[in-house]
Amino acid sequence: MYSKVTLRLYGRERLRLCIRRARQSILFLALFLISIWGYCNYRADNFTFGWTDPVRVMLLVVVDPNTDLAGEARRGFLQRFLSSPLASSGNVAGVERWFQEEYERHTSASGRPIEFIVRGPIQAPAAPPPAPSAGASFLERWRGTQAFLDYFEELGRREKLVLEAYDVAVFVYFFDESETARYAGQHSVASRRNRRGVVFSPLGPNHIDRSCALLAHELCHTLGATDKYRGHESIFPDGFAEPDLRPPYPQERAEIMALAIPVAPGQERRIEELEDCVVGRKTAEEIGWRRSQR
Ligand SMILES: [Zn+2]
Repeated sequence: MYSKVTLRLYGRERLRLCIRRARQSILFLALFLISIWGYCNYRADNFTFGWTDPVRVMLLVVVDPNTDLAGEARRGFLQRFLSSPLASSGNVAGVERWFQEEYERHTSASGRPIEFIVRGPIQAPAAPPPAPSAGASFLERWRGTQAFLDYFEELGRREKLVLEAYDVAVFVYFFDESETARYAGQHSVASRRNRRGVVFSPLGPNHIDRSCALLAHELCHTLGATDKYRGHESIFPDGFAEPDLRPPYPQERAEIMALAIPVAPGQERRIEELEDCVVGRKTAEEIGWRRSQR
């Protein structure tokens, strides 16, 4: 026969054991979920398209709430950017054609690698949240980035778009030239992990050709390409359109992930249109158009 004291001690011991096991189970579950999350992120961060079919890109054009869209000239201008069947340096068809030329040059295969599905223009209900400042803490940066992404996801939902149905989604956000100072802190960004990109550009004939180059640059990021400039300089050799050129300066074109033409040591010319750019060897490797040679 056990005494009451012994039974009480035995009960406490069992309770402690149960609590310990419950803690261990929660810890294992948390570790398991973190591992799955890490693995999914790793896969997304290293994902490369197979290029057997065109990559389908949803392109949504958004216009700043303070930018007047009623004018016929502006509407016509945006329509030409979005839906002109004739490829030019200032429209989406031209960006598609540029990708095809570069793809064929690198792979010797034929066919278009990118297919844009365009929507808009839509007027934004409010300006996007500001980008986190450079000195922000990790948590502030995370919150700021999340709010920024949520803003664009919400725009997609308002348009009844299922963004997950596309391989990539890119938002081109236009604002009036008079708003340029207000948008000085908003830089075009893109993420390979969630395959979303945002391009900011003033609206007008002086900017549209360059905005097409920015669109191609951010789209390349979503496909896996990394930046190839440091500070204001293109990185040699990966950020040079023709790294084998001797002497290496002046270059005639820019590497798309460097976005500037090195004309002399320490001196670069800003690109004005997508025709100024090429996909370099390293970028082609990163996005899966060429096998890595290093
Ligand atoms: Zn970039």
